[in-house]
Amino acid sequence: MEHIDYTPWYISPKTKCLLSDYETEPTSKGWRSGSELEEHLADMGDKLDKLQSTLHAAKTRGLLVVFQGMDTAGKDGVIRSVFSHVSPLGVRAEAFGVPTELESRHDFLWRIHAKAPARGEMVIFNRSHYEDVLVTRVRGWIDEETCQKRYNDILHFESLLQDAGISVLKCYLHISKSEQKKRLQSRLDDQRKHWKLQPSDFGDRDLWPQFTQAYEEALSATSTPESPWYVVPADSKPYRDSFVAGLIVQTLDNMKLKMPKPSFDLSKVKLS
Ligand code: AMP
Ligand code: MG
Repeated sequence: MEHIDYTPWYISPKTKCLLSDYETEPTSKGWRSGSELEEHLADMGDKLDKLQSTLHAAKTRGLLVVFQGMDTAGKDGVIRSVFSHVSPLGVRAEAFGVPTELESRHDFLWRIHAKAPARGEMVIFNRSHYEDVLVTRVRGWIDEETCQKRYNDILHFESLLQDAGISVLKCYLHISKSEQKKRLQSRLDDQRKHWKLQPSDFGDRDLWPQFTQAYEEALSATSTPESPWYVVPADSKPYRDSFVAGLIVQTLDNMKLKMPKPSFDLSKVKLS
């Protein structure tokens, strides 16, 4: 299989990350365009289907894919695209909004851990525990000390999942501010998209630099070789989908999954 080198988009642990160093459009990294891109997505889709079936059958490992990004970055869209290639069996998507009254009386990982994958499952998070070091920080709902503690809690939590055989892959969907403007406008113009709009989408847009900085710090503090963060250029939807599908394929491929052996001697089976 032709592997793409994703390392240019991998966030190196504990080094300062500057999102402005990363493209939101796939211009210079030798990526495909047009029909080549479609072919790649179809190919990755087939592979994803096979690997996910093996994950589900073997039940030895699990996968958590986290999607984060500014409003309109394409979290819903990329999930729809990834899911279109796999069987619903053994796959789950979970979205995290403003915590309920009960959730906010628990530790911030309580609701997250409850939705984590079991071995055999692939779970996709639309937003995640990272909101607890992003929006909460930008809005000043937590102080600096709490934020640093939460980075540590997150590292421990993800390492706990890893120890249980659950890999964590984290994708930051990287869009430009001008692309967000287009997407918000298209939501305003299309009645079918009105339900997606919230007052916070516009308020958060005004805090773009603060969100960018919070992302940069969170990504640097929590990217590890075992639970890596990748920056996904996300201004182009076909490119984004292809990139993410390939990344998930590579992650599953690295697990070296094997179909389980039959639990009884098949040579003795006689069909009447
Ligand atoms: P959406 O993803 O468009 O449905 O929006 C969900 C909203 O919930 C976003 O504005 C998030 O910032 C917010 N949200 C998600 N998790 C948290 C959290 N832990 N604390 C505060 N707000 C959150
Ligand atoms: Mg939204």
